[in-house]
Amino acid sequence: MAFELPALPYEKHALEPLLSSETLEYHHGKHHQESIATLNRLIAGTPDDNKSLEALIASSSGALFDHAAEAWNHTFYWHCLSPQGEGAPGGDLAVAIETAFGSFDGFKERFTTQAMQHFGAGWVWLIKSLDGKLEIVTTTNADTPIAHRQIPLLGIDLWEHAYYIDYRHFRDKYLESLWRLINWDFVALNHA
Ligand code: MN
Repeated sequence: MAFELPALPYEKHALEPLLSSETLEYHHGKHHQESIATLNRLIAGTPDDNKSLEALIASSSGALFDHAAEAWNHTFYWHCLSPQGEGAPGGDLAVAIETAFGSFDGFKERFTTQAMQHFGAGWVWLIKSLDGKLEIVTTTNADTPIAHRQIPLLGIDLWEHAYYIDYRHFRDKYLESLWRLINWDFVALNHA
């Protein structure tokens, strides 16, 4: 049973001008696609080939883990973004963010700082820990919170391929533009 590249939840050009269709064409159509193609090659004809992505992440290591986690992370990331993303969290999520970080602005500042301090490739996440606390964590390369019994609410790709076409090496400009693209309804759904 081979995995398939999930379609983007919006048109390829829908996040322009903040993220170009060229970025999405490469990031979704090449990088995400390549993770899935490699994963399929790794599991073909093995006892792993009827496992879910989550089960593979929980049970594997090395290249298999990396490609399963990258496949999962990217699908999550696409859903964290939206052409109608301008805005702020509401309801229970807003209260939880204020409790954990003092304010929404305090959260954005901490999230950006941790994303900027993360060295090299990886991801920055807003997660809910097992005791229900909201925290910001970064993971290296393909690593994912779901491998660490954390519930991801928001996940942002920090690999250079996520922003190089639009922002070159300026990770800060990419992060700043993302605040106008976050799908807070999706983040709230993960929180609930
Ligand atoms: Mn990526």
